[in-house]
Amino acid sequence: MSEKIKIVIVGGGTAGWMTAAALSSIATDKVCEVTLVESDQIATVGVGEATIPAIKEFNDRLGIIESEMMQKTAATFKLGIEFVDWSRLGSSYIHPFGTYGETYKGVDFHQLWQRDQAAGGQLPLERYSYAIQAARANRFEFPATADSVSSTYSYAYHFDAGLYANFLKEFAVARKATRVEGKVIKINRAENGNVSSIELENGKELAGDYFIDCSGFRSLLLGEELGVEFESWKKWLACDRALAVQSEGIDDIPPYTRATAKSAGWQWRIPLQHRVGNGLVYAGDFISDAKATDEIMQSVESPLSDLKQIKFEAGRRRASWVKNCIGIGLSSGFLEPLESTSIYLIQVAIVNFLKLLHGKVADKSVVREFNRLVDLEYDRVRDFLILHYKLTERSDSEFWQYCRNMEVPDSLQEKIELYTKRGYIDQYRYGLFSPSSWLAVLSGQGGVPKCAEPMAEKINLSEAQAKMRELQSSIEGKVAQMSSHHHFLHGYCPYN
Ligand code: FAD
Repeated sequence: MSEKIKIVIVGGGTAGWMTAAALSSIATDKVCEVTLVESDQIATVGVGEATIPAIKEFNDRLGIIESEMMQKTAATFKLGIEFVDWSRLGSSYIHPFGTYGETYKGVDFHQLWQRDQAAGGQLPLERYSYAIQAARANRFEFPATADSVSSTYSYAYHFDAGLYANFLKEFAVARKATRVEGKVIKINRAENGNVSSIELENGKELAGDYFIDCSGFRSLLLGEELGVEFESWKKWLACDRALAVQSEGIDDIPPYTRATAKSAGWQWRIPLQHRVGNGLVYAGDFISDAKATDEIMQSVESPLSDLKQIKFEAGRRRASWVKNCIGIGLSSGFLEPLESTSIYLIQVAIVNFLKLLHGKVADKSVVREFNRLVDLEYDRVRDFLILHYKLTERSDSEFWQYCRNMEVPDSLQEKIELYTKRGYIDQYRYGLFSPSSWLAVLSGQGGVPKCAEPMAEKINLSEAQAKMRELQSSIEGKVAQMSSHHHFLHGYCPYN
């Protein structure tokens, strides 16, 4: 009998192929045998084109060559997300993948900025962010570690979701993951409740030690078979459907995602090399499908595809690892793509699974720890997303009135108060978003805090302001020397 751990992955969307690629390249075929089942009869969700910088770590760890991946997936670079019309109509700010300014004599930069503003300073915080200034100028260069300004940002990608899944499929199969075509129609259980095998429509049966549920919203193993309950977060994240459409490419490709707030949700624009992905995420309780269709079609020029509707609900399963089944991707939960976090949540689940995997049978402590980590990640991303809706001054539709007035989780309410009253950014000890991410949204939608901390009050303001001016002109000078994003892509990873 084989000593290798047999892992069966159900589903070949982004989650399935990311899992297969990671298991087959990191765990190696000496440790485990990886089989992925997917069905041509059941389409993948087919969206999921914007990422965050963590994806680069994941790809690097697998040994994926960046330029090759970008070329094959028509990818572009991403320096952040622009939020248009969120705090009020006409407003815009960028959440960058980078920091703002530099600490000065132990005082956080945003505290100096707060003092500068209180003294009549006019420059918005974003003028002190290299990533934002590069994004606004449609420019791109790789960060330079040796330079104090050019090392203040990182980057992610926009890519074609279908092409990325195909890329990972080739990658995983080349590393001995086995692909099996077929629709799962029956799940067999052992006496202890574990899944022992799955049966396919074509008569095949696949046995395994672990089954990874990557079957998408259907949640075939975790939800349907094991009955793991779904915890809904709809009261905080009211959007429950999306309309997606592709349109013609843009010549001067912006290196950022745009999220524009609409009457009952928001609209994404994700620029790829060969086309643009667009989609309206909206709340069916506040706008009809017909009105939502009009809203998106009025703002998309030169559509290339039909509109595709996808329904969902924000929330997560009460547990992601139950018995010998581990849910990864949409089968374990869903948070709307406002901060492009789903692929990250897939990645972090895979990494945690790999860290905890030992032998054919998992200890209870391993299962508990995995579920604890998944819960933490989901809860923190959830709070960060709710922040965008809560911190709005808009009252021009029923939807925005609801968002402004809704009660938010205590964990989030405290963070908002600490910032608005004191300029204090609380730091979670675990989770995705750094203090500069919180600062981006809190200052972008919540404005300037009422007062700075005592240490900042003691600083010699004119000295600090001179430093601020120096930094800001250094950022301007460096951005002026960067290549245009379009030109950079053409030289590095042109898509044919
Ligand atoms: P799916 O893509 O649905 O794949 C499910 C797989 O299971 C398919 O291969 C299917 O054939 C298979 N399957 C199902 N049932 C069976 C069966 N009975 N037998 C055999 N096979 C079966 N994420 C981001 O990170 N960034 C974004 O910008 C982003 N945008 C999004 C926009 C929208 C509107 C939505 C809904 C999601 C978005 N996401 C985004 C999330 C992202 O699309 C998903 O996290 C990602 O695609 C993973 O999906 P999945 O692999 O879990 O499921």
